[in-house]
Amino acid sequence: MKIKKKIVYNRIILKISGEFLQGKNLSGIDNKLLNYIIQEIKSILPLGIEIGIVIGGGNLFRGRYCDENNNIKRVLGDQIGMISTIINGLLLYHSIKNKLINVYLMSSLPIKGICKEYDTFKAIDLIKNNIVILAGGIGNPLFTTDTTACLRAIELEADAILKATKVDGVYSKDPINYPDAEFFHKINYDYVIKKKIKIMDSTAFLLAHDYNIPIHIFNIKKTGSLYKILTGKNIGTIIKNY
Ligand code: UDP
Repeated sequence: MKIKKKIVYNRIILKISGEFLQGKNLSGIDNKLLNYIIQEIKSILPLGIEIGIVIGGGNLFRGRYCDENNNIKRVLGDQIGMISTIINGLLLYHSIKNKLINVYLMSSLPIKGICKEYDTFKAIDLIKNNIVILAGGIGNPLFTTDTTACLRAIELEADAILKATKVDGVYSKDPINYPDAEFFHKINYDYVIKKKIKIMDSTAFLLAHDYNIPIHIFNIKKTGSLYKILTGKNIGTIIKNY
């Protein structure tokens, strides 16, 4: 049942990294975390928000770590990385489907009989009644799923990108080493780009900046954060063109 509550964004792209799904393991997927993330998503369904999920693959493979390795060149590494996002996407898709939630999986790199090809206009139709999981990155090496999240947010006309992280948001400096670090609730893209703040890669930031899509960074480990953000609580850091 839909709850009548003031909501902040009507359509979101939620970016979930593969790293989050691995938890304390060195790689792979921690089932507890997979279920946790599904509960967090389930909690926002009564708000009637349209949800696209861009899923990462860093828990299984990252192309950039292959750069120095002669056996696996960067492009091959990235191809394996993109396939990793499909593996995560499939797991997320079936786990959400098992909870009887409407969900659809699309991939820039489709696999016949396993996952359908990404199609912008189909995704815009589907997102009205389904959670749409977007796997395969953008389908090209040398990019990341953060860039994918920004690109898909623009294509699907989302109101914001919600980047689930393990940190509360953006600080002026590393809060672990500098107790006087300032926490930003709001911050300008120009500042993030100028200071080279590494919460997303620069291609992702530039895209979001140029197309004026806010990125909301928040700590997914804090239960209820997603719900709180969407109902207007002052949580995390919003990066946009102020
Ligand atoms: N990747 C790619 N093109 C894309 C998206 C991802 O080549 O458009 C590859 C790249 O090797 C990346 C890996 O897939 O390291 C996993 O994605 P990412 O690192 O963004 O996952 P996350 O850090 O979110 O788990």
